[in-house]
Amino acid sequence: MPFHLREGIMFFKNTYEVGVMLSKKAQSIKEYVAGEQIDDGYIKLNSNESPYAPPEAVLKAALSVDLNKYPNTRADILRKKLSDMHKMVPGNIFVGNGSDEVLAFAFQAFFNPDGGEVVAPDITYSFYPVWAQLYDIPYRTIPVNDDMTIDIGPFLSLTNCQGIILANPNAPTGIELDIEWIDRIARQNPDKIIIIDEAYADFGMMNSADTLTKIYPNLIVIRTFSKSWGLAAARCGYAMGAENLIKGLEKIRNCFNSYSVNSMTQKIISCAIDNRDYVRENSLLVVRTRERVSRQLKEWGFYVTPSSTNFIFITKENWSAKKAYETLKERKILVRYFDLPRIDNYLRVTIGTDKDMDVFLNEIKKTLK
Ligand code: PMP
Repeated sequence: MPFHLREGIMFFKNTYEVGVMLSKKAQSIKEYVAGEQIDDGYIKLNSNESPYAPPEAVLKAALSVDLNKYPNTRADILRKKLSDMHKMVPGNIFVGNGSDEVLAFAFQAFFNPDGGEVVAPDITYSFYPVWAQLYDIPYRTIPVNDDMTIDIGPFLSLTNCQGIILANPNAPTGIELDIEWIDRIARQNPDKIIIIDEAYADFGMMNSADTLTKIYPNLIVIRTFSKSWGLAAARCGYAMGAENLIKGLEKIRNCFNSYSVNSMTQKIISCAIDNRDYVRENSLLVVRTRERVSRQLKEWGFYVTPSSTNFIFITKENWSAKKAYETLKERKILVRYFDLPRIDNYLRVTIGTDKDMDVFLNEIKKTLK
């Protein structure tokens, strides 16, 4: 390092407290904490990843990029494939660096700090309130019922509200909301933006709300390649909706990072779409394992929410989820524990291979003693 830079940094370190150098936002915001990524021999059931890799051709597709060239900013080839898949036109599709990025852009593209509240269930994806805080958007929650199902009534008579965000199926409960209810909520709230986050929809029974985006110009559906497609490492998600909503997302992207979806990812995802039969096959395997594990846990007295996802959400009376999380970690099994109101005695457990789930069952049984 050149001398003058080293001197400068020494001066900087000695003179200021680091905290003082941060913006008020960076000092005060409570950030989202992703599931731990420890690679060292753990059975990883804490991030809802797929236990099954996509066909080899999908990974190899990354090798055909021109590394010296920037990516296509809007991922046009991919957009065309996605629009064909959903019977739309490319103008109805926005592709982003994971659905987290698409959601973050959606908060900026559709909501205002002085425009009423964005409303969500109290038990849902814990990233939503973080984006609301990041962009100074008022955020209000509606309590889910005691059985963790969404209480629809309040969503049909909202006041002082600019938007609704629902994960369907919901996370971390895994519970699916009938598409008729989404239709009803959209019909009842024509003046608000409604975001449906379908990260886990391929593991459920219902149809996607994609068809509803053709009826309701205020409805946007967001999906990911990280779960059923087994492509979490590639970071890719997409939104479907009316063309002016998609243009809003593009505009926000172009104020942030024009090239947010890299060329390798664009190639990988395009190839995955060309080979997409594997998604249904792998999802069925996951669902079969999920049902077997759920049955066993119920036999042991656990309450298991009815899951339409690749994870289960479990609790039990006279049993400590926090302790079980710690014990499982000692045994090299990672599951997700949320130290949050109403769900602090639950564990969220991703469905892995049958072999991994047998190890999990064996170990969780020991926490009952
Ligand atoms: N929505 C929900 C409900 C999720 O659980 C996740 C995964 N943490 C995401 C969105 C984001 O997924 P990704 O950014 O990998 O597409």
